[in-house]
Order: sequence, then structure tokens, then C-alpha cells
Amino acid sequence: MLTEIGHYVNGSRVVGRSGRHASVFNPATGEQTGSVALAATAEVDAAVAAAAAAFPAWSRMPPLRRARILGKFLALVDARIDELAAVITAEHGKVLSDAVGEIQRGMEVVEFATGIPQLLKGEVTENVGTRVDSHSLRQPLGVVAGITPFNFPVMVPMWMFPVAIACGNCFILKPSERDPGASLLMAEWLTEAGLPDGVFQVVQGDKEAVDALLHHSDIAAISFVGSTPIAKYIYATATAQGKRAQALGGAKNHMIVMPDADLDQAVDALMGAAYGSAGERCMAISVAVPVGEQTADALMERLIPKVRALKVGPGTDPESDMGPLVTRQHYDKVRGYIDQGVAEGAELVVDGRDLKLQGYEDGYFLGGTLFDRVTPDMRIYREEIFGPVLAVTRAPDYATAAALINAHEFGNGTAIFTRDGDAAREFAHGIEVGMVGINVPIPVPMAFHSFGGWKASLFGDHHMHGPEGVRFYTRLKTITTRWPTGIRAGADFVMPTMK
Ligand code: NAD
Repeated sequence: MLTEIGHYVNGSRVVGRSGRHASVFNPATGEQTGSVALAATAEVDAAVAAAAAAFPAWSRMPPLRRARILGKFLALVDARIDELAAVITAEHGKVLSDAVGEIQRGMEVVEFATGIPQLLKGEVTENVGTRVDSHSLRQPLGVVAGITPFNFPVMVPMWMFPVAIACGNCFILKPSERDPGASLLMAEWLTEAGLPDGVFQVVQGDKEAVDALLHHSDIAAISFVGSTPIAKYIYATATAQGKRAQALGGAKNHMIVMPDADLDQAVDALMGAAYGSAGERCMAISVAVPVGEQTADALMERLIPKVRALKVGPGTDPESDMGPLVTRQHYDKVRGYIDQGVAEGAELVVDGRDLKLQGYEDGYFLGGTLFDRVTPDMRIYREEIFGPVLAVTRAPDYATAAALINAHEFGNGTAIFTRDGDAAREFAHGIEVGMVGINVPIPVPMAFHSFGGWKASLFGDHHMHGPEGVRFYTRLKTITTRWPTGIRAGADFVMPTMK
């Protein structure tokens, strides 16, 4: 029987009424397991109205009380983490341990958001003038929305909503229609934790729902994570409507391997960063740049047997290193890129195209794939593939390697493996990328720092969570107070200055 996945509005699950649905599949078997409602504009409007009605009371609730609700939610997620991970694996395909890992990284943002009373503290200056004091504070924006991608159905929403609601906003989530199930569990558990109705809601859908959010006059801000073309569209449309917007896009993350690097460590790091979650991570390393032919040959020698030995299988099998791709369509796209790489003249060293898994013949499984001698003019170098395909681009020296990264359209994450402090420092200082790892392959900032890339990987001024998240979801107010005792009467028509 198919699971019907609807919306979550005003504290309850509601069925879709638009008559439009999308199919949800188990990527390991290729079977349709569910049907998700695609909201019409009227359904989005109903959620926005409920959020707007909830906002006055929620925004006036003392931050400490809001934080306590998030604390209870955190405890519920912790106690039920396996249930949530199973839903992720069933719809997304990633291995269960990785699904648990993404939830834990999301929970760290909830933990961060429980510190909101401290984070919202403003500034005070006594005596900005005679008997005049000034203080500034941050207030919530109102109703805000988050539009999220398929690859982290729990963690990416958790980059947004814990901070948004802790700050006193009401939040509407529009999850990916490919793996929508986890969003409803989070909504129910927030209600169970004591969140008032309307403060967190879920509207499932596609472009129609997104456009309704982008054009609704009661939505104050839009957070988006997804591919770059849609990120650009979201940012342009939301800001044209006068909304605050942050739109995180795609990536092509390089890892430089210097001649002095610990190669075994670098290879282990590359394996996890390139093939973990079948490469469907915005912080996945998709290009390795060994410096010097000797480094490249030594790297390949160690890498090839490991890529061949990757265990690909259903996410529910604890033996699997990586699971299937998310949909048949995405499988075809990634496979097409491998064909393209061969046609462009890259050296296909390990070919994942022929993988067949007994008992899972209809699953979207692709084996680990490795290309050598990929050059910057090739499409497999320029474009984001978002699959288990690692390109090796050899560079003669550090300067060439760094210049490659700086010239690339994307600037999400990058890493260098080296023992040379000078090279590491130069890399950290000069590289034009938002998140940088020194001997760390996937430098995802912790919740109390902020996450975001540069160039075509982020449109907007604010990164997500951490201090930037608090700034994004609040606006500054500065209050100047004159204490009347001893002040002469009479109007003053000149600009007030400190004479
Ligand atoms: P996507 O852009 O296809 O979809 C993202 C969201 O946008 C979904 O909710 C989807 O329903 C909606 N959407 C899709 N097409 C739309 C349209 N035409 N108009 C309005 N809304 C639309 O992305 P995806 O395939 O779900 O996710 C993978 C992408 O996300 C990759 O490019 C990856 O790099 C990126 N990503 C980036 C980060 C980051 O932090 N920069 C993090 C995770 C994923």
C-alpha cells in the first residue's frame, strides 16, 4: 500500500486538496512506496495565514521558554533517532549510519538554538548625549520559509528552522518532493514538545508551492538550499518581492594533495568525501588535485583498489559503504556524465556503470567511478555531477592547483592535504571558497559557526546557522532614550549633535 504524504498545518497533518501528487520511491528497489501531495497556492496561503496568526504570541514569548520547547524537541529526536533515520534511508537511499549522522549534525543546530537568550542579547551605550542612552536589540522578521533539497531531508531543514523559531519567527518548510516523509515526523515531534500550532508547518510541493511562497506578501524571508539554477531564481524572485533571501547552490569541491601529504590519510579522506552518501553531498569532494606527477601516480596506486573495493548496497545493510542514487532520473543523469567523460577523453580508471546487485536489479545503484587526467575544459570538470564520480586533475605545482580552484564557478568547500604549514596558511588565506579544510576533507562548520559557500554556491549575504543564522532571522532595532529630568523645554530644529 502506498503511503500518502500530506502537509502539516496549524498543528495537524492535513491531506492535499490540489489533486496533484508526485510519486515517492525506494531507491534501493525502484518500487513506488508513497505519494506526496503537491500544494496549490490556496494551500500555501492557508499555512501562511496560520503562521501569521501564531506570530504575535510566539514572538512575545520569552526566548528562554522558546528555548525550552526546542530542548524538549531535541530529547524526542534523540530518543527516536532510528525511526527518523529509517525514513531517510527508505526515501533517500543513504546508508542508515549516514542517515543517523545527518540527524546528529542537525541536532547540533537545535542545541545551538537553545542558547537563544544569550544569542539575542543586544548592546547598550550609556550617555550617547547628556542624559541620553541608546540600546539595540534584534527582533524576529515574522513568517519565514525554507525550501530544501533531497540530499539532507533532516539536516538542511535543521540548518534553518531551529534558529528561525528560536528567534521568534514562524517557519514554513517546503521539503524536497523526492524524500518528504521526515518533515512530517519533525513537525509532529515539535508539536509534542509543546510548540504552539502554526509556528512550524510543512507544505509539500513543487514549483507551484515555491512560487506561492515567493510571491506571498506575508512571507518576510526565504532560505533556500538546492541547485544553482534554482538558487539564482529563488534569490532573484524573493529579493524582487522585497524579501530577505539566502540561497545556497551547487558545488564542485576540490582537494589538493601536496607532495608532502600523508598519502594514506589523504586517500582515506578522499574515499569518504567522494563516495560517502554516493557523492550526493554539497560538500563531497569531486575533484582531487595531486601536485606533481609522482604524487599523482602514488595517489592513484592507492586509490584504485579502494574504489574497486567499495561496497555498494541497500542503505539498510550495515555492510554497505554507499547506497543507491536518489531517483532513476538522477541515476541516468550521473551515468550520462560518465559517458560524457569518456567521450571527452578523460581516462576512466574505475567504471561503476556495470554494477548489478542481485535482488536489487531495479535499484538505482551505480558503482564508485574514478577518472584520471581530467582537464578543466571538460564538462565533467566544470559541472556538478552529484554522484559517486571522482575526477583527478593533475597539477604541476601548488600555484596551478590553487588557480584551478579560484577560477571555478563554484566556491562551496575545499581542502588541502599537506604537512607544510606555509602552504596550508597560503591556501587558507588566498583560496576563494567559503569553507576550507586543512587536512580535513569535509570542512562542514559546526552549528555555532556558520555554513555557506562563495561565488555560485551562495546567493545572498548571510550563511546559515551560527551567528549568521541569528542575523538572518532577526532585524536590528536601535532605541534612543532621553531621561527628562533637568532638560530645558523648547523646540530644537537643528540636527541633534554632540556639541
Ligand atoms: P533542486 O534545486 O532540484 O531542488 C531544491 C528545492 O527546490 C526542492 O525543494 C525543489 O522542490 C525545489 N525546486 C526544484 N525546481 C524548482 C523550480 N523550477 N522552481 C522552484 N522550486 C524548485 O536540488 P536537489 O536536486 O533537491 O538537491 C541537490 C542540489 O542541492 C545540488 O546541486 C547540491 O549541491 C545542492 N545542495 C547545496 C547545499 C549547499 O549548502 N550549498 C547543500 C545541500 C545541497
